[in-house]
Amino acid sequence: MADFPRSLIEFQRRFPDERACAAYLARVRWPDGFRCPSCGQGKGWELSSKAFTWECASCRRQTSVTAGTVMHASKLPLTVWLWAAYLMATHSNGIAALQLQGQLGLGSYKSAWLLAAKLRRAMVAPGRALLAGLVEVDETTIPLRRKDEPPASGHGRSHQGKMLVAAGVEVHDGGPGRVRLGTIQDASAESLHAFVGAHVEAGATARTDGWSGYPGAPGVTHEPHVVGPMAAHVVLPWTHRVFANLKRWALGVYHGLRRKHLQSYLDEFAFRFNRRHTRHAAFRSLLGIAVAKMPTTYNMLIKPEATA
Ligand SMILES: [Zn+2]
Repeated sequence: MADFPRSLIEFQRRFPDERACAAYLARVRWPDGFRCPSCGQGKGWELSSKAFTWECASCRRQTSVTAGTVMHASKLPLTVWLWAAYLMATHSNGIAALQLQGQLGLGSYKSAWLLAAKLRRAMVAPGRALLAGLVEVDETTIPLRRKDEPPASGHGRSHQGKMLVAAGVEVHDGGPGRVRLGTIQDASAESLHAFVGAHVEAGATARTDGWSGYPGAPGVTHEPHVVGPMAAHVVLPWTHRVFANLKRWALGVYHGLRRKHLQSYLDEFAFRFNRRHTRHAAFRSLLGIAVAKMPTTYNMLIKPEATA
């Protein structure tokens, strides 16, 4: 049996209660058996007196399976966490907090939002590999939703802000590989080079529309195609498709994104895009990152700059 469920029925069968969820999280967190996060020793035992908690044989420190993870000190049951992770990771468009609240019967929108935001933080794997080979690089502006604008507002909004977003998309055999998305302050060489430097491996070839901001990115061969704005989709078909999907998704699922959380939504989009052929396995990789990430407080999430 694969180490992740491949349908709602299978999910329900495998995770009927807290014990089943805890056992799964322990396996994801400690694939080679318990390891003490305090002293690093690999010897310990599960306590019978305390739920889902291990005691280290060397330093005697007790560690619950969620301690020091994004689930740290959460009052939500593990079944709710795993359901949320499953819905967010496997649904082709993800799921907005309002729907999550309804589907999981959560008491408040705030707790649903927080749950989704914490899982979204687990959508960037630490130490993930940079884009390599031939990489399309382009930027676009995406409209933003204002803080005071209700989420369900319709068309014809007049006071939207905009934000520049850069994308890199690997091209393999004429098709798209992995994608990275990042907010950028402007289309200056400095901003674009910083994006390329952060997401594209040295030695890769960046294919761009020839905009003067791209040449000279350190370590990257530049392959400019100087085109008029109407023809850019011919030279850079995959970044254009990613941008079109991103904009449709942002409007369809979130009714527009907000500036403050934009990068985390870009990360969510990229996580799902990069796992589009392995959606069910994405559930396990999401939990794998979640148990390896440091816990997040509400304040860290509402003030993203504090997490840097
Ligand atoms: Zn220890």
